[in-house]
Amino acid sequence: MGRNETAKDYPKERCVELVRAAVGIDTLVVDEIKGAMPWWSTVRLATRYGTPDRHVFLAGDAAHVFPPWGGFGANAGIADAHNLVWKLVHVINGWSGEELLDTYETERRPIAQRAASISAAMNDERGLMRLNTISIIPSFLQLIPYMTVGYGYNSSIIIGDDDGSSLPTPKSYDLCGRPGTRIPHKWIDEIDEEKVKEYEEDGEELIEPKSTLDWVDPCTYTLITFGEDKKGNSWDQVFKKALKEENPSHFKRPINHINYTKETQYLLIGLDWKKDFGLDYGNALLVRPDGFIAWRSSSKDPITTEFASSLLSILHYK
Ligand SMILES: Cc1cc2nc3c(=O)[nH]c(=O)nc-3n(C[C@H](O)[C@H](O)[C@H](O)COP(=O)(O)OP(=O)(O)OC[C@H]3O[C@@H](n4cnc5c(N)ncnc54)[C@H](O)[C@@H]3O)c2cc1C
Repeated sequence: MGRNETAKDYPKERCVELVRAAVGIDTLVVDEIKGAMPWWSTVRLATRYGTPDRHVFLAGDAAHVFPPWGGFGANAGIADAHNLVWKLVHVINGWSGEELLDTYETERRPIAQRAASISAAMNDERGLMRLNTISIIPSFLQLIPYMTVGYGYNSSIIIGDDDGSSLPTPKSYDLCGRPGTRIPHKWIDEIDEEKVKEYEEDGEELIEPKSTLDWVDPCTYTLITFGEDKKGNSWDQVFKKALKEENPSHFKRPINHINYTKETQYLLIGLDWKKDFGLDYGNALLVRPDGFIAWRSSSKDPITTEFASSLLSILHYK
């Protein structure tokens, strides 16, 4: 649609001609034109994603509009809802303070900003796809995995690694357990000792493999712990204690615990803790309901209920 045109400039006859031209058949029978709406290939980004009283939030095209060349629009809208909905659940149920909702804009707006600048770079002055874009398509295609799954969040509910490692960029991203990024997908087989015996004796098939993404509980934080430290302290135990004793208000919504130890009755096949999650024995990973990693323990973090309790307070704004 031209800049000075409106939907009124597109009566049925003109729409039929446009459909025929697009399809390439002059005689195509077009029975019905359902509607004509104005649309321009443009960039618009809301200054704020919500009202100060935290009663109204913008998501999807209401918050951001991009030229369609990257295919980012619907993806970004769905990711907005994915980011916002668990925060609403936590606040409405009283599990978290209302300030949690402010992290929606902090986390999502920079992603929309990046999608906008990438797709706007492919727009020409008429709002069509730049003709010389073909030459940049290979580098553009590399951006798509980053924009769909590879980006990271930086906010007050992401407790970064002590080494200060920065968030992924379009040129350098790798899902490997870094706080602020998505939990990596790995296929795993999780079988108990009984099943191993059956397998060894009868050669029975292992149970269906599942993804590490299936560990994530969409309603609450998931704590993934891997054994205990040399002194026998385990993150699994201190978090359980912190939830029960130190701060009962958090216990309204228990954490989903995934705990593996050397003595565990389960056997995990296909996972390299160090390579896939950056976890040494005795370490832990706290994953949000949307699958983004909130915290990864480091050797400097004391394995104490006080530390676990303060971490939960930060994450819940309590
Ligand atoms: C040509 C083109 C190609 C695209 N290609 C891609 C792609 O490949 N990948 C991708 O991810 N995205 C793509 N997009 C973008 C994608 O279509 C949009 O980003 C997405 O549809 C936005 O979804 P939404 O739900 O936020 O808004 P909308 O889809 O606009 O939905 C809003 C709904 O609200 C309704 N509504 C409005 N006002 C009211 C009211 N007062 N009361 C009740 N209902 C109301 C509207 O009728 C509409 O149904 C493309 C867009 C275009 C134009």
